[in-house]
Amino acid sequence: MKALHNIKESFLGFIMPSYCPCCHSEIYEGEKHCCQSCEKKLAKAEIIPEERCSICFTDLSLKKNRLCHKLNDTNRMFCDGRVIFFDAHYSLYSLTKDWHKLLKNWKFGGNRYLYNCFLPILQEKIDRILKPWNIDRVGYIDSAAAGRDLRSWKPCEDIARRVAEWMSLKMGADIFKKRKQNQSQMSFSERYLSIHDSFGLSSSFPSAIPKNYLLIEDVYTTGSTANEIARLLKKKGIKKVFILSMLCVFGNDSKD
Ligand SMILES: [Zn+2]
Ligand SMILES: [Zn+2]
Repeated sequence: MKALHNIKESFLGFIMPSYCPCCHSEIYEGEKHCCQSCEKKLAKAEIIPEERCSICFTDLSLKKNRLCHKLNDTNRMFCDGRVIFFDAHYSLYSLTKDWHKLLKNWKFGGNRYLYNCFLPILQEKIDRILKPWNIDRVGYIDSAAAGRDLRSWKPCEDIARRVAEWMSLKMGADIFKKRKQNQSQMSFSERYLSIHDSFGLSSSFPSAIPKNYLLIEDVYTTGSTANEIARLLKKKGIKKVFILSMLCVFGNDSKD
């Protein structure tokens, strides 16, 4: 079976060579989603949770974030409270230049299977990060509903499906964007103000309200989207909302 798989793979590689989404060099057999040297660079952007606020995930080493700190003799955090509706956020990687190239290919280049890049580390984090959250349901934003999306698939769906599968949970595209919004043109505070009431719950949202909800996001930028969705979910009766983002732009994260 393995031999057959190898033959199939080398034949595919011959008629349809694959290229590294980051540096565009040809990928040979044995290498997966990007070339080995880019894989190393991407791995360096992994975010160490120990250096972060356990609630909002802000970098505690930055002076301006000193409002987030551990309370004396406990594991509880005093969080600066800018993000108040969700209970914890965790992100896998900093959005470095290398990740940015990969993200573009994943989200806009139509290379759906690049989501596999996140899976090894995600699987590794399940016991340490995700299981202690006691999640009942996994969800993501149904981006296709916004209309401007021409893809036939949604990047976060693949991730949500795998996480739900591994944790034996139900999942769905539970949230939809009510109106088109181009956040990239907005400043930090504009995003926060404009986002209010811009999401709704879709028909896939279960009638039996889950207790602890995990929202999967591709990129966490200011936290305004995550926060607004957490507000919506809590209004609906959900007790705790957790955010898992693949990539995070936060403080000094984007420097490479
Ligand atoms: Zn490469
Ligand atoms: Zn915090």
